[in-house]
Amino acid sequence: CGIMGYIGDKPSERILLDGLKKLEYRGYDSAGIAIGTEAGLRVVKAQGRIAELEKRLREQALPSGAIGIGHTRWATHGKPSDRNSHPHTDNEMNISVVHNGIIENYMELREELEARGARFVSETDTEVISHLISSEYEGDIVFAVQQAVKRLKGAYALAVLAGREPDRLVAVRQHSPLIIGVGDGEHFIGSDIPAILEHTRSVYILDDGEMAVLTRDGIRLMTTSGQPVDKKLFRVKWDL
Ligand code: GLU
Repeated sequence: CGIMGYIGDKPSERILLDGLKKLEYRGYDSAGIAIGTEAGLRVVKAQGRIAELEKRLREQALPSGAIGIGHTRWATHGKPSDRNSHPHTDNEMNISVVHNGIIENYMELREELEARGARFVSETDTEVISHLISSEYEGDIVFAVQQAVKRLKGAYALAVLAGREPDRLVAVRQHSPLIIGVGDGEHFIGSDIPAILEHTRSVYILDDGEMAVLTRDGIRLMTTSGQPVDKKLFRVKWDL
């Protein structure tokens, strides 16, 4: 339902939570964040409102990390619950994914991945994405995402963070909106402009079949098959 991503040099937890709050008007049943830290990925999620997630973050404080992804969920596959909340990960806790949309062929992919040893912990369609990316991962998250999305049918806006590459974020759009916010030494992913408006008014609006790779210093836009994309920066003129 709502996606927020951050890479920069500030602690990402607060930025992600504030961004998700700006997307609250879309409605949701659960929320969660994944943060890249020196000790690897840390994921905290909770059914309910963002206040529930904040409560959980007070109980199990996270080490600070300047890269992260966050999500508010509107359940389509699997009831609202802690387990079904996003971000979803692979079994090694290396790949974390937040997703808006519906993966139509998730049953078939799930069976295939389970047969190859993946252990699923949720009832969502989304969890196939994290296991699928993991099965393609050999140290390059951009390549792994490109391989994985070839197999996906349906609608998806994705933000992906690999624990072993805490210096970049990957965003993908297919039939579900996603924008990239351009800052100075920091960049953002949002499912909608209000999530990032507090930080920047310069955005790239992704089109279907496009992806973005965000580092602290730059943004690379390309198609999911790796062709570079040239796109105009959009200046947001309105106020919140
Ligand atoms: N289909 C996914 C789920 O049910 C994503 C829902 C959403 O867009 O929030 O978890």
